[in-house]
Amino acid sequence: MGPERRGLTIEGLVRYEQCPRRYELRDVLGQPRGDTFSRRYRRVLHEVAEWLQRRALGAWRRGRRAGERPELARCAPPLSRVIAEFWRRWREAERAQPLPEPPNAAWATRQRRDLENLPAMLGMLSDHLLGDLIVVVGEDFGGRQDRWTGSPGLRVTAQTILSGRIDRIVERDGSLVVEDLRAGRRRCDVATLPFDLRLNLWALAAEEFIGEADALAIYDLRRSEVVQVPYRRAVALHLMDEVVAPLAAMIEQGHFPKTPDCGWGCRYCECFGACWDEAPLSLPGVGASGSRAA
Ligand code: SF4
Repeated sequence: MGPERRGLTIEGLVRYEQCPRRYELRDVLGQPRGDTFSRRYRRVLHEVAEWLQRRALGAWRRGRRAGERPELARCAPPLSRVIAEFWRRWREAERAQPLPEPPNAAWATRQRRDLENLPAMLGMLSDHLLGDLIVVVGEDFGGRQDRWTGSPGLRVTAQTILSGRIDRIVERDGSLVVEDLRAGRRRCDVATLPFDLRLNLWALAAEEFIGEADALAIYDLRRSEVVQVPYRRAVALHLMDEVVAPLAAMIEQGHFPKTPDCGWGCRYCECFGACWDEAPLSLPGVGASGSRAA
């Protein structure tokens, strides 16, 4: 048996599932991740969501210590402060790496609309995030002790231990809900949510480290919609055996072929432009006109 691997994260595993070559470029060869408008927008929204919850929780706890009974929603910073925080982080990212010009007028309009909708979106986000009892925010479970195996993180194979970061766990209508905050343009598919790899692994980790998980949910930041389904441990264990363990074994063996049906996937891939296997722009149905900006 080789040395134990501790470097596998849930994000890396999801990347490998999408395209093993992408995993190789990002996680093995350390290819830096190029920023696009959408990627930066999603990342900064995510960061602000976490900042907002931590600020509100901090104020709530201080109030409790002082003998008050504050409501979590009332402990939030004002919306103007939340918007200012978004722009502060956005400008910081722009100083570090200026974004490329939008490739065409349609993309420029979409980007402008996203930024114009920002105050409304941050207002809805604040109402949603502080409407439940927060149990965990941005929890890194890689260093937590697994109560079954005693190892830190989730053990997948004899050699691989999985680490990751749970967006949040909340108590909603008496259930412990493991929730992923997403800001992509694509709508969440209710039919596939019970089998979502990331959420099921988060729920397994929540069971190991907190003791319980009852439901899986995605909060769609763009549309302010929650999609929630019951968590079934049998499904998570099945995914662990049938998907996670085989993928981890292939990673251990250094097996990094490109995904067979890249095509459009390459256009939206963060490694596009640096990957020796990417689909050519001349691929039928794949235009060169700006699809990189997604
Ligand atoms: S550009 Fe295409 S083949 Fe290359 S890593 Fe990305 S999805 Fe895979």
